[in-house]
Amino acid sequence: MIPEIETKSLAEIEALQNTLLQKQIAYLMQHSPFYQRKFRAENIDVKSIQTIADLQKISVTTKADIQLYNNDFFCVDKSQILDYATTSGTLGDPVTFGLTDNDLERLAYNEMLSFQCAGVQKGDLVQLMTTMDRRFMAGLAYFLGLRKLGAGIVRVGAGVPTLQWDSILRYQPKYLIAVPSFLLKMIDYAQENNIDYKNCSVKGVICIGEALRTTNLEPTLLAQRIQEKWNIELFSTYASTEMSAAFTECALFQGGHHHPELIITEIVDENNQPVADGELGELVVTTLSVEAMPLLRFKTGDMLRKHTQKCNCGRNTYRLGPVEGRKQQMIKYKGTTLYPPAMHDAVAHFNEIKLHLIEISSNDIGTDEILIRIFSEDTSEEFSNKLKDYFRARLRVTPQIVFEEELTLQKIIFDPLSRKPITFIDKR
Ligand SMILES: [Zn+2]
Repeated sequence: MIPEIETKSLAEIEALQNTLLQKQIAYLMQHSPFYQRKFRAENIDVKSIQTIADLQKISVTTKADIQLYNNDFFCVDKSQILDYATTSGTLGDPVTFGLTDNDLERLAYNEMLSFQCAGVQKGDLVQLMTTMDRRFMAGLAYFLGLRKLGAGIVRVGAGVPTLQWDSILRYQPKYLIAVPSFLLKMIDYAQENNIDYKNCSVKGVICIGEALRTTNLEPTLLAQRIQEKWNIELFSTYASTEMSAAFTECALFQGGHHHPELIITEIVDENNQPVADGELGELVVTTLSVEAMPLLRFKTGDMLRKHTQKCNCGRNTYRLGPVEGRKQQMIKYKGTTLYPPAMHDAVAHFNEIKLHLIEISSNDIGTDEILIRIFSEDTSEEFSNKLKDYFRARLRVTPQIVFEEELTLQKIIFDPLSRKPITFIDKR
């Protein structure tokens, strides 16, 4: 069930990655207009790139590069593209990715490995509670991955607790794929409608979009709140369109496992120099065995840590910790720096809050202001102060709190043009 390479020694894993890297670089030299230009401009002899360490000789690829030269990243004729996907475009314009037949096969393999990490087996049934269309690569990946694994899928899509529960009770899925905060809505709905959710078929959830672990890999408040009410296992998975690869937790919850056949990662500081294992830095990825749109040293903007101590699940691969924030979304508040996910998790501490939206703006003196707009059962000043005190104690920041009507926030958060709920707005 675990690919042989993932049980091998670190030296053997690295040797395989180096071989695949050499192949990918030779392929880029042959087929990628963007990288041909880059190699020429930077005087790179592609034969000199033999190992992961050699990648340092090539400059990084940024999101702006792909936005500006999107077509030049394509390595195949358009007639070979079987599926188009776009990035979610939370920062700037979305970028188009194409997948060939081989890329779809690679995506299926990747997602099969990812589900296997979370313990999904042949014959299990999984309910998909995220969108499969809207040019979303992940939804397609889940479908293809489960099919390859021999597991079943119920494609319910996002939202609609009634239909989610109807499907759970009707088809008895063992796993769900969901945004974790939506599970709280599912629990509320079940309680209101006398659904015996604690004894239903669901044993685990593969979670996307929100952090389940803290920096130290402890459960976040959100994860705790879900598990206090519903005794199910929550597996975090981290992936992106650009990576075309997923990092998913195994049952030991030591971060998302790396699959060495699919991707090379580096974690770098502001000067693109590697940081020490366990230190926070920006993830840079080089995709392996991608045909339509391979990326070399792509800076993801995701701030996270690499965990290298041995995991006892049988895989010898390192893990990536939770995304602690997007690099561009770093907030500077009176000597403290933080990222939105830590604030979202602090909000999760309060059951009274049903919806929230964080807005960041800069004030006249150039520091950041934090405004949290909430729809809450309790709109007293005491509650507002309690919230501020909690933020001060936990994160050393004092946000402004504004109470809003449910509909006002709903319109912004659940924008029909967005695949994910919008809970953070950067006005700087
Ligand atoms: Zn493991």
